[in-house]
Amino acid sequence: MATPPGQAAVTRLHRGRLLSPTAPDRLSHVADGCLAVDASGRIAAVGDFPTLAGQFPDLPITDWRPAAILPGLIDLHAHIPQYAAMALDGYDLLPWLQRFIYPTEAAFADPDHALAVSRRFFSAALARGTTTALLYATVHAEGTRMAFRAAEEAGVRAAIGKVMMDRNSPPELCEDTRESLRASEALCAQWHGAAEGRLRYAFTPRFAITCSPELMGETAKLAEEHGALIQTHLAENPDELAAVGRMFPSAPHYTGVYAEAGLLGPRTVMAHCLYLAPAEWDLLAETTTRIAHCASSNFFLRSGVFDLAQARTRGITVGLGTDVGAGPSLSMFDEMQSACFASRARHATERAAGDRLAAFRSEFAALPEGEALFGRVAARLGLQDAVTLVSPLHAFYMATVGSAQALGLEREIGKLEAGTWADFVVVQPPPPEARELTPAELLSQIVYRTDPSAILATYVAGAPRGPRAGGVPPLP
Ligand SMILES: [Zn+2]
Repeated sequence: MATPPGQAAVTRLHRGRLLSPTAPDRLSHVADGCLAVDASGRIAAVGDFPTLAGQFPDLPITDWRPAAILPGLIDLHAHIPQYAAMALDGYDLLPWLQRFIYPTEAAFADPDHALAVSRRFFSAALARGTTTALLYATVHAEGTRMAFRAAEEAGVRAAIGKVMMDRNSPPELCEDTRESLRASEALCAQWHGAAEGRLRYAFTPRFAITCSPELMGETAKLAEEHGALIQTHLAENPDELAAVGRMFPSAPHYTGVYAEAGLLGPRTVMAHCLYLAPAEWDLLAETTTRIAHCASSNFFLRSGVFDLAQARTRGITVGLGTDVGAGPSLSMFDEMQSACFASRARHATERAAGDRLAAFRSEFAALPEGEALFGRVAARLGLQDAVTLVSPLHAFYMATVGSAQALGLEREIGKLEAGTWADFVVVQPPPPEARELTPAELLSQIVYRTDPSAILATYVAGAPRGPRAGGVPPLP
């Protein structure tokens, strides 16, 4: 087929079983599928192999059968330096930061160490099928530069930010407000849009506890000026919530602190969002602020369980994040499982609370207007909200399309679709069952049973990346 003018020529076909999300409950599936990748690294066409092989004859073919080809996974929240201190259990958020994380981040003052940890981080993420990530570095400008350099070398797609903290921080991590802003802006100028657009800058005030109102307010202005992203944490832990309440007594609630600073909006990703009042959910929806749901981290730090139903009923965009190192795994497959389990934990808890409340129903009924009162109490407790039980397919949607939307990249990545970047992961499915599985059943097995050894290759913009990049099978 002739290449239309202005479009790069197709240079390679990838043959395999295609699985791509189209909605939280829908999947597109081609059993003998094909991705036609062009010279610019985009997907030129998607379809069944016999058709595309006829349209694009005499091209090299990488035949991945019987493996499945999925869109690359998008980690919407993780901390590069914390990879070195992952999986240290036993503490809630605030003491865990003090004991393990701040000392680990302080080591990023050494640029060589920062580069070595960043290289290990990206190599491990790519080996697990992650092609894009939104990431925190540390307060160190040079260490952050090393993180960008490692991302550029690895060929991964990433938005990274220098952490900003100018109060309530250990002395070795506490910054001067002006210097924090200046260094962040300089990094943004250097890296936002670098590596052919694969790298972007994300302004990164750590969270309200460690940031002065001035720092947050000026950060919001800089992000707006440069069209950059913003990332921070919101309502992860009850002790954090209490501290924010004491520090910002005039704010109506935690989300209000960020709203006041101008930090909410469509280019902002808030991690966690576990303890929000209805007005805060409304505020996130009105400002089209995005959420990174980090289920395994929330279990690990005993933080709580995200209420996905609140976000879904308001149409808030939700993606998934590993939150390494509070998340004990860099695998988005593990994170998808955790999102499924978190919804079940929430479902079981709410059902138990509903049962307990129902035991009092007759006593409510004996009161004047008791039924109405009962209804109000149940609604206040959230027991009448539809609980969203997350299926593997829904988790896959959030880890791809949801995270892409959160980054404003929904037209670029997250699906196997003509015109998007050829960011994809090749997964060896578990051994076949006695009967043919439906696509949703196959996806369920991939989500729950994929470990890194089953990931045969990871591609970003049409190029193999990560430690297995040299392991592409020989061409026919
Ligand atoms: Zn985090």
